[in-house]
This record gives sequence, C-alpha cells and structure tokens, in this order.
Amino acid sequence: MSKPDGTLLVNTGRPHGAGIHGVNPPIVRASTFVFDTLTAFEDASKTPFDVPFYGRVGTPTTFAFEAAMAELEGGHRAIATSSGVSAISAVLLGFMADGGHLLVVDTVYEPVRRFCTRMLARMGVETTFYDPAIGAEIADLIRDDTRLIYMESPGSGTFDVLDVPAIVAAAKARAVPTAIDNTWATPLFFRPLEHGVDVSIHAATKYIVGHSDAMLGVITTNAAVHDAVRRATQDLGACAGIEEVNLGLRGLRTLDVRLRRHAASAMQLAQWLQAQPGVARVLHPALPDCPGHAFWARDFDGAAGLFSVELTGGADAARQFIDALQLFRIGFSWGGFESLVLPVHLENRALPRWANTGALVRLQVGLEDPDDLQRDLAQALAVIAP
Ligand SMILES: *Cc1c(COP(=O)(O)O)cnc(C)c1O
Repeated sequence: MSKPDGTLLVNTGRPHGAGIHGVNPPIVRASTFVFDTLTAFEDASKTPFDVPFYGRVGTPTTFAFEAAMAELEGGHRAIATSSGVSAISAVLLGFMADGGHLLVVDTVYEPVRRFCTRMLARMGVETTFYDPAIGAEIADLIRDDTRLIYMESPGSGTFDVLDVPAIVAAAKARAVPTAIDNTWATPLFFRPLEHGVDVSIHAATKYIVGHSDAMLGVITTNAAVHDAVRRATQDLGACAGIEEVNLGLRGLRTLDVRLRRHAASAMQLAQWLQAQPGVARVLHPALPDCPGHAFWARDFDGAAGLFSVELTGGADAARQFIDALQLFRIGFSWGGFESLVLPVHLENRALPRWANTGALVRLQVGLEDPDDLQRDLAQALAVIAP
C-alpha cells in the first residue's frame, strides 16, 4: 500500500462515480431506517455494517468515516466508537472477557491502566505492565493464558517509543494477538498494521477531529480479529454519535496540513528548549534523549506536536512554570488547534524505573505562531530559572 498523504485524505470516504454529489457525504441522522418489505429488511440485516439497518450499527455517515480510516490505516475494516476510551475498553473486553493474562505497556494512557486494574481485575483478568524498552524480551512475559499484548507508542507522558516489530514477532511466535494505541502518530506518521499489529486504535478526539469540539474513537483491525472486536463494540453499544463521526471525517481532510504544522512548531520548540536553563531533558521522540528514539527513526514518518519537558527545579518549579504560561492553557486532551500544558504524573506506574524521573511537564503545541509560543515558554522559564 502507498503511504497515506494529502491526496488520499481529500478523496477517501467520499462518494464518487455517477450522479450528483455534495463534496461531503450527507450527515444522516437516524436511529431507524425503514424498509418496504420484510424481505428487504432481512436482506439488510445480513450486511448491517455496509447498508443502513439500525442507527447503533451505523449510518452512511459512519460508514464513510470507517471506510476512510480503514483505507488510511491499511486495515480490513474500521469501527467508530463514542470515545478513545470506549474504543480501547471494547478491544480489551473483546479479547479478555473470559479472563486470562494481559500484557500492557507501563507507559499506557492512565484511564486504560485504571480499566485494567479496576474493571478487568474484577473480571479475573491479570494484567502485567511491561517496560516500554522490553523489545523481543517480551517473549519471557508471555504465558500460556496470555490473551493480548497491548501497546502505546510513543507512550503517554514520557514518550518512550516501542520496538513494535520485535514485540509483534514475539507475539506471533506464541499466536498472541496485539493491539496498539496509535493516537499520537496518526496514520500519516505510523501504520501499525503494516508492522503486523492486529488492532490499531485512535482517540479521534485528538488530531483526527482536531478542533477540541468532539469525543470520538476509532478501531481499525485486520480481517483475522475483526469479528471479535466488532462483536465487543456491538455488545457494549459503544457507537459514535453522527455529528461526531462527521467532525472526524471533516478533520481528516485537513489532517496533513495541521499535523505538519504541529510537527514543525513542536520540533522548533523542543530543540530550543533543550538549550534553556531550567530544562533537564526534552522527551520528544525525534530527539536522541527520548527513550526508543532509534525505533522512532526506523519506523515512523514524522513526530507529532505533543512532547514532555523535564524541569530541573522539581514539582514546585513545574507548578510555577505551568501557571506562568499564557498561550499554553491548562487542560486535558491535545491534538486541537490550541496549545495546552499539563503536569505529567508517574506515581501510578507499576515499574520502579520511573522513580528517578524529575518533574515533567507535557506540552501540546498548537497552530499558533511558533515564535509567539517560544516567547511564552521563555517568559515562563524566566520565572523558575531567572
Ligand atoms: C486522550 C487519549 C485517549 C482517550 O481518548 P478519549 O477520546 O479522551 O476517550 C486514549 N489514548 C491516548 C493516548 C490519549 O491521549
């Protein structure tokens, strides 16, 4: 498959061929579709993910977004869900509902860790959190009852990049399926299914929607595991709202230009920050200080606009720095047009290796003029390292 690019983003998931078409597919708001005969209704029920049947199963707007994501990720099919977390929990339940052993990277997005240690634990699932640097040695952690290996690359907060091909090879040797959170890279910068991963998940809330105005998740699978994942999303009723799906589809049209601007601005700021007093380390996958940088250089086509900075002054300095920022606003999420900042919390991590990591601040670099953002960072650093 050729790499997804601006041309594919503009053309995918749109009506083509004969007839009169709006540039965008219509927004079909419906719970119910009606049929002239019972036979027509029964025929539709055989392919409910391709023709309109019932709103929870999908409308033509949903199908257009799902088709676009499947094409961009090089997958068999994609499934839209109500949020990134609903996409991830549906995948985990789809593989783990009978209990057994789950391997999850220790840099996982925090609500996913909670899903494992709360809900899945109560269902009898045992989760082992593995070191993001594990690579091929994950083979030593795979047990006879291991049902899934879950990855996130780069990981949340510390941006450790995984050796995905090595982990996938070890998983395949034991016939264990793999899933990954690909939110940071988007299909433009990393395509997990090309590396043999079975399931790629996005919080489309972030770069795909891109404007901080909708919650949306999407799961892309290969053919082998599709039915298992689809059953889970259907059993959970985890469907996406139609307006949200449309915002996801609209976001895709501009993803290439937005992401390249996020990427270039973040790179400028990360490199500049490296040389500033008060900064101990910049954890940005395209910079050598970031654990797994070599895997990023080998496997990815770009680095997105979210990274962390380790400050020398400790937690108090991090608080002062965050409060001093003006253009970087304090708030959850990322991937929208606006710059954001938050402290990174490592206290829930399972492995001891994080104990020596200093105070981390995560920056989401938005679409503002990067020189303005740099001035903002400079004035806030001057507060803590005068
Ligand atoms: C935000 C986020 C999610 C969750 O997405 P929601 O749409 O907020 O539920 C999942 N994974 C990563 C890496 C995220 O940053």
